[in-house]
This record gives sequence, structure tokens and C-alpha cells, in this order.
Amino acid sequence: MKKKEFKAESKKLLNLMINSIYTNKEIFLRELISNSSDALDKLHYVSLTNANLKVKKDKLEIRLETDKEKRTIKVIDNGIGMTKEELEENLGTIAKSGSELFKSENDDKKNMEIIGQFGVGFYSSFMVANKVSVLSRSINSDKAYLWESEGEAGYTIEEAEKDEPGTIITLYLKENTDDNNYDEFLEDYTISRIVKKYSDYIKYPIKMEVEEEEEDKDKKKVKHKHEHILNSMTPIWKKKKKDVKDEDYNNFYTDKFYDYEKPLKVIKSEVEGLTSYDALLFIPSHAPYNYYTKEYEKGLMLYSKGVMIMEKCADLLPDYFSFVKGVVDSLDIELNISRETMQQDKQIKLIAKSLETKIKKELESMLKDDRENYEKFYEAFGEQLKYGIYSSYGMNKELLQDLLLFYSSKEEKLVTLSEYLERMEGDTIYYASGETTSKIKMLPNVINAMDKDKEVLFLTNYLDEFVIKTIGTYHDKKFQNVSDANFDLSSDSEKEEIKKINEESKDMFKVMKEELGDSVKDIRFTNRLKNHPVCLITDGEVSIEMEKVLNAMPNGDSVKAEKILEINESHPISQKLKDLYKAGDIDNIKKYTKVLYSEARLIEGLTVDDPTELSNLICEIMSK
Ligand code: ADP
Repeated sequence: MKKKEFKAESKKLLNLMINSIYTNKEIFLRELISNSSDALDKLHYVSLTNANLKVKKDKLEIRLETDKEKRTIKVIDNGIGMTKEELEENLGTIAKSGSELFKSENDDKKNMEIIGQFGVGFYSSFMVANKVSVLSRSINSDKAYLWESEGEAGYTIEEAEKDEPGTIITLYLKENTDDNNYDEFLEDYTISRIVKKYSDYIKYPIKMEVEEEEEDKDKKKVKHKHEHILNSMTPIWKKKKKDVKDEDYNNFYTDKFYDYEKPLKVIKSEVEGLTSYDALLFIPSHAPYNYYTKEYEKGLMLYSKGVMIMEKCADLLPDYFSFVKGVVDSLDIELNISRETMQQDKQIKLIAKSLETKIKKELESMLKDDRENYEKFYEAFGEQLKYGIYSSYGMNKELLQDLLLFYSSKEEKLVTLSEYLERMEGDTIYYASGETTSKIKMLPNVINAMDKDKEVLFLTNYLDEFVIKTIGTYHDKKFQNVSDANFDLSSDSEKEEIKKINEESKDMFKVMKEELGDSVKDIRFTNRLKNHPVCLITDGEVSIEMEKVLNAMPNGDSVKAEKILEINESHPISQKLKDLYKAGDIDNIKKYTKVLYSEARLIEGLTVDDPTELSNLICEIMSK
């Protein structure tokens, strides 16, 4: 029999196919199963318009067979089959897709879920096989043909026997090499795994005889073959929500996304329009161990027409929602030749946009109606939302600011900015930052503000203050750190009075300031503190908490907050200072200044440069 050569360009392509288009050998099975599924679809489609053709839909199926002795894998379908000409045309010419042609010839394209379009999938068989044979009989012919090829060398076609229409593809596996184990494809377990991974939602049953151990009458273990359907056929995300139990969603999540805890929220979305897609998304109930590290990879599983295309499609999720897990299935995704990446990302972008809106809506409704769970979510992923605002320089603030929570001094629980807004008077939202809410509560400036009946937001996360600065204004209300020099709730007469007192003591402050050098911008009396003798406030953009965060960053520049040391004018220490100055006791003024400044630093959670000196000073003063 004369061997026919592949068309010239085909040769080169074949080589390319085998060696470079696919990175993952196991996908050959996905490609062959997809072809069989297409062949079944075509038969079904043709039978709809041809009364003579009686096709029972429930008889349409794909079978897999392995033979360990012969080292073969068979993919068998009872689909439309191929005539001799079609075998030549479709398999003799690489990059010729009979499926694409079928789609273009039949106009009812909307309902067609045919997968093939590039005419190359079939050749991926040569990644694992050194010989491939295709025995096929078309529904339009009673003759069958056997197409055989050993790759580049070309192919033969001869007449053959086959009782029923359909196609049997046989792969003769390559011999194992040091780097490649082809034998594994003969294992039931491997085949089942690959089918589950890529072809679980092919809508026809994929059947295989699987060997199982059983006990016979005499309790002896014997091996039996049983027919299994390897695929689940209907994807859970295609089922109506009312037909699926919560438990099923939870199990699907824990299985697919390797979590031991059920998700906090299940989001199901079915969209038709410019782009159509089904999505089943999950919000995990805790952050994965590597979530806040570079190792974490965001992304959603991407399916097209029941076939898994990508395990983690990162482009479907914005960074600030990177915690979301799930599946997106769309007919509209344009694939590139190897199906391993997307042809163009326009559709992906549209889907991503629509998913973003959906996720945001779901989070908002959780915030509104299921506060307890929302707080759990926020605990796990709030930082990511904050990072989303901060890292976009505020571009995402409209989108994300209403999802933030802060501890309120008044409510003594977490509140949103809009809840603060509802209660507030005036045009300022007050906040204070520190390590923990209990530490913030003890800050003199905070006590002062709370005393004046102000609601203060306690910012305890290192990102919080940066986020607030990035937000800038919230519905025209400005934010004000209660430790900022601009924060002053005293009346005009009180302000006038303290100004006068400070003016009188300005020479003393000059001496004190000299002692502290650049560490402080100013020293002055205040009438805002209740019982506390001293506090630090800041002037300018950088607060003390921000200074701490910035300086803790690796190779962060040393940033300094502009600090002002304030001394409570009504505290006895003020009079003491004045007396010392009057008596000309400059030496003691200096010592007192040092101690007061150190105290103020400690209150703010800052360190003191020389604790030994401080301790010596205190003891010296105490023993007088
Ligand atoms: P694609 O599936 O992208 O079109 P392939 O190289 O995988 O490309 O297949 C080429 C063509 O061969 C298909 O378009 C189809 O017409 C035909 N074909 C492949 N496998 C089968 C099969 N099992 N039954 C019928 N036709 C098939």
C-alpha cells in the first residue's frame, strides 16, 4: 500500500505540534475526548434535521480502553464518523478543522457547543504515541476505513471492517525513556484523573472498564472489571441553585480548592449578554497560609464548553479580590491553538469586570445582612481591600471604601464610614492610631476627644492611616487625627488664654527646646489635656504611627514625624517648671525636659534613645 505524505507544511507543523505547542503531555486525552464529543454533537445535530436518521441521545457515548500488553489506549465514540475523504482531509492536513467547517456550514451556531476549531488537537497524540490509527465509519457510508500514521513519515488509508458508525482511535504508546514515563497512561487511575481534570463536564458519558478488588464467596480477594463513568457530565455551576444543596457546593469547594473549611459564601452567577458566562465563586472563611506572600497565586478556573482550559486564570480577578476562588465557564472565550492561553483578552476583561461588580455586590449585601460573617471575612481579607485602595493611589476608593471597617470609640465595635457619617455632626471624621484599641483608648489626645463627645475611629492596622490619607475625603468630610496639631476643640477664649500663657513662657521653652534639639519642632503648654501631664502631637502629613510603619519597612528611608511636646498647663508640673526657670535653675529645667519628653514618647509607644540615662535622671529627681 502506498504511503501518502503529509502536505509539506504539515510536516513542519507536526513537528512543532509535538515539540512545542503543548507543554503538558497528558492533554492528548483531553483533545481526543473533545473530538469525540464533537463527533457526538454533530451526529445529534444532523439527526435533528434528518428524519431517516434515528439517533438515541442516551446511547451516545465515549469509551476508553487500555491494554497493558499491547501498550495501547483506545478512544472510541459512536458519533458521526468520517468517510475516506474526510479522513484524508481532516487528518491528512494538519491545521484543517472539519469541526470549524461544520460550524460554518450549519447556521444554528448559537446552540452549538462544538469544541474543535484549529485542527491540531488530534496530533497531540504523537506526544505520547509513535503510531496512531483511526478506524472510522461515517453515518453516510457502510464502508469503514483505517487511517494509520507513525508521525512525520506520512499516513496510509485502507478499507476496513466496522459494524457501526463511529470512530476508534488507537494510540500505540512510545517506549519509556529516562525522562518520560508513558506507561503511566495505561493505568486506570491516571486515565480517570486526567478525565476528571480536563473533561469532567463533557456532556456525554466517558466510560471505562476499571479493575476493582472484590471478595468472592470464599472471602478471597479477586479482581473484577466494572464499567465506570469517569465524568460527572453536568457541572455543578450549570445546575440551578435551587437544585443544589449547600452541602454539595461546600464539598465541591473543599475538593477543588483544597480547603478543609467550608467557604464563607457561595456566589453563583449566570450572565447572558455581550459575553455569556456561568460562574461559581467562593469566599474562603480564612486566608490561605501563604495569602499575604508572593507565593500566593490568584485566579479562577476557566472552562470553555465543558473543557478545562486553565487552572488559574489570573486576569479574571483584580488584586483586591484575589481571595476569591471558583470557576468561570464561557462559550465566548477565544482560545489560541493550544488552548493553554487565551487568544485575546477582550472577553476575559469583560467577564472580569462583570465578576468584580458581582463580588462587590455580594460583599455589600453580606455587610448589610450578615454582619457576623462579614466581620469574619474582614478579619481574613480586610487588609487586601485596604491594600487595593492604597496601592491604586485612591483610584479604587469609590469601589472599596464602603467595604472597610474601623473600631468606633462610641459604638465599641467595628463600624463602616457610612455608619459614622450617619451619626456625625460637622465636617470632620476623627481617628487615632496605635497598636491595639486598648492602647489607643489610653492616649491623652484620644481621652480628650472622647471627653468632648467625639466619635473616634481607632486604627490598629499598619495600613489604616495610609488608607485614610489615600481616601482623603469621604463624602466631603475630611479626616482628622486627634494627635495632630490642627486638632483643637477649645473655644476662642481658651485659645487666646493659652496663647498668652505660652507667650509669657517663651524664653523657658527656648531653653527646653535647645535641650531636645531636632527631636521636637516645638514645646508648649496646652489646656486640652485632662489629667495627663504631657503628650506628643504631630504637625504635618506624617503621624507617629506612620513614622513607625515607614521606619519598620525594609530599606525604608528614615522618616520623622514633626513632633510637638505639649505640657498640661493645669498640671502641677507646669508650675514646677515655671518656678525652676524663675529661680534660674537651668540645669534642672533641662533634666525635667528630658524626662517629660521621654514620658511622652513612651505613651505613644515610641522607644527612648537612652533608657539608662532616663532611669538615672528619674531616680536623681525622686531622691531630691
Ligand atoms: P479540531 O478538533 O480542532 O478541529 P483536530 O486535529 O483535533 O482539530 O481534528 C481535525 C478534524 O478531524 C476535526 O475537526 C474533525 O472533523 C475530525 N475528527 C477528529 N476526531 C474525530 C472523531 N472522533 N470523529 C469524527 N471526526 C473526527
